[in-house]
Amino acid sequence: MSNGFIQLVQTTKSAQVDASGLAQSLRASIQGDVRFDNGSRALYATDGSNYRQVPIGVVLPRDVDDVLAIVSLCREFGAPLLCRGGGTSLAGQCCNVAVILDFSKYMAGITEIDPARRIARVQPGVVLDHLRNAAEKYQLTFAPDPATHDRCTLGGMIGNNSCGVHSVMAGKTDDNIEELDILTYDCTRMKVGATSSEELERIIREGGRRGEIYGNLKAIAAGYGDLIRQRFPKIPRRVSGYNLNFLLPENGFHVARALVGSEGTCVTVLEATCRLVESPPERVLVVVAYPDIYQCADHVPEIMSHKPIGLEGFDDLLTDYTRRKGINSEGLSLLLEGGGWLLVEFGADTVQEAESQARGLMQALSRGASIPNMRLCTDKQQAKRIWEVRESSLGVTSHVPGEPLNWEGWEDSAVAPEKLGSYLRDLRKMMAEFGYKGSLYGHFGHACVHTRLNFDLQSKAGIAKYRKFVEQAADLVVGYGGSLSGEHGDGQSRAELLPKMFGPELMQAFREFKSAWDPAWKMNPGKLIEPYRLDENLRLGANYAPWEPETHFQFPEDHGSLSQASLRCVGVGACRREEGGVMCPSYRATREEEHSTRGRAHLLWEMTQGEVIRDGWRSEEVKQSLDLCLACKGCKSDCPVGVDVATYKAEFLSHYYEGRLRPRSAYAFGNIDFWARLASHAPGLVNLSTQLPFLREIAKLVAGIPSQRSIPAFAPQTFKSWFRRRRNNGGPPVLLWPDTFNNYFLPATAKAAVEVLEAAGFNVIVPQANLCCGRPLYDFGMLDRAKELLLQILDELSPEIEAGIPVVGLEPSCVAVFRDELLNLFPDDKRAQALARQTFLLSEFLEANSAHWAPPRFERRALLHGHCHHKSIMRMTAEESVLQRIGVDFHSPAPGCCGMAGSFGFEHDKYDISMAIGELELLPAVRKAPDDWLIIADGFSCREQIAQGSDRRALHLAEVLQMALAGLSASDSGPYPESSRVLQRQIDLRTSMTRAGLGLGALMAGSLLLRRWIK
Ligand SMILES: Cc1cc2nc3c(=O)[nH]c(=O)nc-3n(C[C@H](O)[C@H](O)[C@H](O)COP(=O)(O)OP(=O)(O)OC[C@H]3O[C@@H](n4cnc5c(N)ncnc54)[C@H](O)[C@@H]3O)c2cc1C
Ligand code: SF4
Repeated sequence: MSNGFIQLVQTTKSAQVDASGLAQSLRASIQGDVRFDNGSRALYATDGSNYRQVPIGVVLPRDVDDVLAIVSLCREFGAPLLCRGGGTSLAGQCCNVAVILDFSKYMAGITEIDPARRIARVQPGVVLDHLRNAAEKYQLTFAPDPATHDRCTLGGMIGNNSCGVHSVMAGKTDDNIEELDILTYDCTRMKVGATSSEELERIIREGGRRGEIYGNLKAIAAGYGDLIRQRFPKIPRRVSGYNLNFLLPENGFHVARALVGSEGTCVTVLEATCRLVESPPERVLVVVAYPDIYQCADHVPEIMSHKPIGLEGFDDLLTDYTRRKGINSEGLSLLLEGGGWLLVEFGADTVQEAESQARGLMQALSRGASIPNMRLCTDKQQAKRIWEVRESSLGVTSHVPGEPLNWEGWEDSAVAPEKLGSYLRDLRKMMAEFGYKGSLYGHFGHACVHTRLNFDLQSKAGIAKYRKFVEQAADLVVGYGGSLSGEHGDGQSRAELLPKMFGPELMQAFREFKSAWDPAWKMNPGKLIEPYRLDENLRLGANYAPWEPETHFQFPEDHGSLSQASLRCVGVGACRREEGGVMCPSYRATREEEHSTRGRAHLLWEMTQGEVIRDGWRSEEVKQSLDLCLACKGCKSDCPVGVDVATYKAEFLSHYYEGRLRPRSAYAFGNIDFWARLASHAPGLVNLSTQLPFLREIAKLVAGIPSQRSIPAFAPQTFKSWFRRRRNNGGPPVLLWPDTFNNYFLPATAKAAVEVLEAAGFNVIVPQANLCCGRPLYDFGMLDRAKELLLQILDELSPEIEAGIPVVGLEPSCVAVFRDELLNLFPDDKRAQALARQTFLLSEFLEANSAHWAPPRFERRALLHGHCHHKSIMRMTAEESVLQRIGVDFHSPAPGCCGMAGSFGFEHDKYDISMAIGELELLPAVRKAPDDWLIIADGFSCREQIAQGSDRRALHLAEVLQMALAGLSASDSGPYPESSRVLQRQIDLRTSMTRAGLGLGALMAGSLLLRRWIK
């Protein structure tokens, strides 16, 4: 029988499907999206694992009717099916040669929350945090909370039997599912849940496909019941294998829970009824530090007896890696001295109750033989920072500077908590024997251990060694009575090893379970059961030889390789979250994988493979995916593995347009410095053509600007020509960088900066040559020109660079060029390195160099918006300190992009998305700000978006400091603190335009008279 199965399964794995016929039929039958193009197939070719399989096509159903039609057509065409949520699976269960049903876009709603019955009914694509936030209104929660809680879906959690920190409180996903509405591959739809024996008999009697399935399940329970009782490990985190234990009568013949963890290999979940549990409103955290991770593990059973609601652990390699990546510094600083840490969370109705539980634990531990360092943390913000150290572990350990790449493979084994210490010691010993290195961390309360190891998955020998290691590791964990997977599922990484854990009889029971639901073996074939080998379908593999084209950027942190840079994305999927951080504004506005950081990185990587994306630099699929990238660099700082799509986009576009004309806007905005310099000879005249009705419409048409936008007006006098008349002020020299925006458009900012720097005792110098950092050129991939401009700067400023004169920039995106792009383009140029080191934002410079200066107090309330490049490359710390120093009480809108992002919002086809992004956070916050609040934004594009999307005008930090120096009070400046400045600017502009108009009129009248006179 088992041979027959294998035959059948092998045939299924290599099934030929008429993909174009299927796509055509799907398009004719469903409301949702049908995407069988190469770009979409490449986008979904991998999940968060080591594996890659290109799907047949992708379908996004809008509703259950769509799903019914899709499954029915797939069956008609014999196509395998793979359901997908957030695609964050880590064992290869979410990639396959199949039709992918992505539930995350349209079928992501909460159907009902019933606080009285403590249940919620949800669609499969709902993101866990959306459910948790809705339930929290009733002080309820869905307890299992994977680290991916802000992007993983309930469908995916059910698929994987996911768990998290708070599984200690209320179990895994299987313990929290009451009922499922499911669909089989042969289109039988049914609701499944706990089944009484009478009900079971009735269903079997009624017959039909449902009766047949229940009959088979009953036979499995009867035939293998004793073996299941004997051989299923009795530990909190057995996630490997099918949940046959739930078919036992003592577990209520719970068919829904038996299907949890089946990884999409049995049925499609259409709706889930979830159990909600009380969410303790008050929580405190105890940080416990022991000399090493093993001693942490040894104390787990004792700590668990104090009934915490969460117990996590991590070692000093994790803190070392985190430090080397320069992230979570505040969280790290709050950890106590030690070599291993436990985070113990207590929850209760009141803080006092939670604290008393925590103190109980601390007292007990201090009576032990080895007393750990301990801290009770009641401050919620501090606790959040500490949790961040643990939550970012996977990303932190994936791509460590100076270390080889680390991969999943043995990432989530579990044992009984009382055996954790010995298991960790043995595991580390085995890792050392194989020459592997990896941090040990995880859900210690349930003894589930995470680690990513430096497997070589690119050579035959490396892959053979990887296989040998996981085989031995499986023997080790089985020897401990544990589970190969304690959290992420079997997928392809562990499935081949399951016989070691369950033995041949239970493997046969698993086959029968799969066959009962999916006799054609078309649901996610080759995963979990009758699997692909764990060393096939690897993303890399022994034949890995990506295309390594010549690039402008040198990618110094990725060995000079674009393919290596794009390989950084290991599918963490943090870019798919909808709140918190900057990344990724275009995903938030579209909720499309293609417009996420992960999607973009995957497509670029696929381009270097040349298998599905075959046109290299000319790929329309890659171009389309990068099109809505705002180049905000949010990913560079927010993504735990530092994917930097803005840089990849600039590189790609530079080649995509080689020998081709770019869109008009590229020439208009990319060369803005050139046009602005030209316009500065007759700004009034140019403003007439860009500001007066009718003329301005023509100007917008010519420059490719959407009609809804206003073109920023040129200042009547540039900052540099104003500065020429100033005298040397004495004091140490500071070079103020006259960026295009503050020189030609908003010179008041640069003038304010001069005043502030001089007040702080510095002598301001300004380069007289026409220099530009080329920031706008990057957005259009005009990298040859960008490099020329940078080299010109290095030549021109050589004396100042050599003399170590600090360069102060006002526009964050220009400072970011010197601190980021310059080093990526010229990593070995000593002058570039020096310039990067000695360039500062005004706030950074003042923070580091003006301890002697006491700026006047300026006690105001303010809304502070940071430019994305500022947040990503420089961070907001200095800006915030300066504001605090002068007494400004500021509040920041949730960190997000303004949507303008350089010229992005000025481009014809980007207006809608630009406004949609602006409306996510910033614009509503500006509109809501009380009239007497300052609106502070340093970025020119942010200031434009605010000006064009509200009736407020934002001020630069330099202007706020200037106001402080002038001692202005909010009341004497008009309705808003910025009103008098705005009015003055308008008067100046009008005067200059009137003069230009009169001049033009006089010139025309003169030439008319001259003509008559000549006649
Ligand atoms: C950085 C990182 C940290 C993680 N931390 C944790 C953690 O702490 N705990 C944990 O448990 N996991 C963790 N994971 C793994 C993963 O995030 C979880 O398993 C998550 O619940 C998967 O959700 P998803 O929506 O991404 O599912 P997907 O990956 O899209 O799918 C998961 C499985 O469910 C199946 N599936 C999806 N929808 C359906 C449906 N409608 N019907 C039937 N089957 C379906 C899929 O076929 C697949 O087999 C982590 C992953 C990453 C990348
Ligand atoms: S640069 Fe910004 S918009 Fe582009 S992918 Fe990264 S986070 Fe998204």
